[in-house]
Amino acid sequence: MEARLEDPTQEIKRLQRCINDLVSLVALPAIWRGTDPSQIVEMLLDVLRRMLSLDFAYARLSDAFGATPVEALRVSEDSKIKLSAEEVRRMLGDPLAAYAQGSVPQIRNQLADEGIAIAPAQLGVHGEIGVIVLGSGRAGFPEKTESLLLNVAANEASIALQEARLVSEQKRVSAELNADNQMWPVLTESEIERARLYGRVRRVEIGEVLYRPGEVGRPCFILLSVSLEIVQPTIDGERLVTILRPGMFTGEAGTIAGQRTVVQARAIQAGEILEVRPESLRTLVANDAALSEILLRAFMLRRLMLIDRQLGNVVVIGSRHSADTLRLREFLSRNGHPFTYIDLDKDEAYRNFLDRFGIAVSEIPIVIGNGTMILRNPSTSQLADSLGLNDNIDSSSIHDLVIVGAGPAGLAAAVYAASEGIDALVIESRAPGGQAGSSSKIENYLGFPTGVSGQELATSATKQAQKFGAKMALARPIVQLRCQHRPYELVTDDGTVFSARTIVIATGADYNKPTTANLDRFVGHGIHFGATFLEAQLCEGEDVIVVGGGNSAGQAAVFLSQSARKVYLLVRAATLSDSMSHYLIARISGNPAIELLCSTELASLEGESALEKVSWVNKLSGESRSVDVHHLFIMAGASPNTSWLRGRVALDEKGFILTGRDLPPTVDHDRSSSWPLSRPPLMLESSLPGIFAVGDVRAGSVKRVASAVGEGAISVSMIHRVLAEV
Ligand SMILES: Cc1cc2nc3c(=O)[nH]c(=O)nc-3n(C[C@H](O)[C@H](O)[C@H](O)COP(=O)(O)OP(=O)(O)OC[C@H]3O[C@@H](n4cnc5c(N)ncnc54)[C@H](O)[C@@H]3O)c2cc1C
Repeated sequence: MEARLEDPTQEIKRLQRCINDLVSLVALPAIWRGTDPSQIVEMLLDVLRRMLSLDFAYARLSDAFGATPVEALRVSEDSKIKLSAEEVRRMLGDPLAAYAQGSVPQIRNQLADEGIAIAPAQLGVHGEIGVIVLGSGRAGFPEKTESLLLNVAANEASIALQEARLVSEQKRVSAELNADNQMWPVLTESEIERARLYGRVRRVEIGEVLYRPGEVGRPCFILLSVSLEIVQPTIDGERLVTILRPGMFTGEAGTIAGQRTVVQARAIQAGEILEVRPESLRTLVANDAALSEILLRAFMLRRLMLIDRQLGNVVVIGSRHSADTLRLREFLSRNGHPFTYIDLDKDEAYRNFLDRFGIAVSEIPIVIGNGTMILRNPSTSQLADSLGLNDNIDSSSIHDLVIVGAGPAGLAAAVYAASEGIDALVIESRAPGGQAGSSSKIENYLGFPTGVSGQELATSATKQAQKFGAKMALARPIVQLRCQHRPYELVTDDGTVFSARTIVIATGADYNKPTTANLDRFVGHGIHFGATFLEAQLCEGEDVIVVGGGNSAGQAAVFLSQSARKVYLLVRAATLSDSMSHYLIARISGNPAIELLCSTELASLEGESALEKVSWVNKLSGESRSVDVHHLFIMAGASPNTSWLRGRVALDEKGFILTGRDLPPTVDHDRSSSWPLSRPPLMLESSLPGIFAVGDVRAGSVKRVASAVGEGAISVSMIHRVLAEV
């Protein structure tokens, strides 16, 4: 291989000039601005290596102050020169030093003897910046023709570097904004002046603890001249969360509702503090939109940070094989409560810890709260109470409005009612969010073009309702409605009675599901409960399965057959004739894309992160079959959560609540009483005056998030009307 170079040619000079320009004009300013230097250098080398078909490209850069140099080496995979990265590095030695000592020509000649041509380029105006060495085994490198390529390479590299700089700059700015300006903002003097209207100023001494984890109703503290240390006490000491300085404020998502604190605040510098109690904080956020935005955004971001860094006041010790562990983790996650999870299957060390507290492994899951409280496999409501999630719930007074259920419909009713000054209490049997909370992405909710996770929607709606003063009792199923007299009474599973002038029932429905193992794991990851245009798009050209023998299953099968390659329709009954309309049966039997499988049940579901394979079995023949599918539609109907209302309000034959015009003229359905008023029932009103039904639980409702939210919002105007009557 002829690779010896003449003394530096014009081409080499051009090459050097180009690289120098490239680095001086683009890379160095980017480095000085804070872009990760190694990222820039590696990209630069890659571009040059690719465009010039090099075997390797090497760079060593340092700034004029002699800071640790950045070194990068890119060797082509298909290089003819069989050199490892270490060998190249060894051969080249320290080219930066070589340049300084004027020994580069020797290195070049020495390498040329080994058939490697190099084109070193000194970087920076005074040579103090570094060196790039381009290496090739090609004869005559760099030939004249390379100069053309080099221009292209320089151009491309310049664009790539500009982009990298921009991206990195954006990341840095947004990280700074998020981390500092948004999560830990410093209030301006005029903002503090406005906040003073809602609080009282007092002095704080060094070492004073303003709150500890688990304290209820603590104020939001705006730091006038003190500094605070925010720490999370843990089993083995303290973890620093942050330091707050004058102008900053304490608090996170639970502060606005007066919920228990999850961290500890201690003064590290004496001075004055403005104390804003939770009720005044709610008035502040309702009256001052600009401050409200700063405070609420910071509170939400802080809660997310606590969750992300597992800095909660709760530790759950359990096993991933235990259903109760899953139940508690799910409850905490869906309530957005930060917690640390310790899996005994993975973390043997904690078994000793359990021994120390005299806890048997059979008692898991164990919940440790605030480092002191220990609960052994608590019920969900026990956990909620111990965490103080229901501390501010008052069962002694009569509420203007009690909303049962905190899915989209109930949360919308809470937001609109509370924002319009109605004293509203939401009672939820599990955690806010309802069915929507289990959806990984809601794609069709107005205003979210890229979709929104059900959990995100629920968390924001909950905070919004609390911001307006709505109260929320969690993990408290309502089991009885007492409606003989008004105010009505709602009884929870632990016997607590809540009195209400008006009630909104928003308890939704649970989709009927086959009892196949694993099914819940794939909900939202291949298992669907609705077949709309959106889902049809998802499985275009693929095989899909529809389960169910009713009209909704038939409609789904026919609809999906227009876009899917094949639809397997799995029906448990021996025939469709008893459960499906004749026109649908005719369409199915004449449709070559639908394979009807009667007397058939799902047997198993498989997949890693999403559904990949489904098996079914014919109950008569025992024959089983497996297919690779990614989409399974369960269209087996939904059952409303109304068992506690039977005999109280009029329901349709499936148990959904009848409202407004759907109510029979003389309401006496299902043993419920006749309509007692001279006015007719309002649009969303049930057979009992002042009791409304919204969302999926209402007969004839459209089973969608947007319609549930809409109904919840509309119900509030009717509640105003009824409150004026009582
Ligand atoms: C996996 C999945 C994905 C979905 N995806 C979409 C989608 O992309 N787009 C869309 O528009 N719709 C979607 N839906 C449908 C949508 O979620 C529902 O239509 C919507 O949640 C209905 O809201 P809701 O408030 O009426 O009832 P729910 O969401 O069912 O909420 C009812 C709440 O009431 C509580 N409750 C029940 N009984 C009691 C009681 N006795 N006491 C106290 N509380 C009680 C429940 O715990 C629950 O939190 C999806 C549904 C599921 C299951």
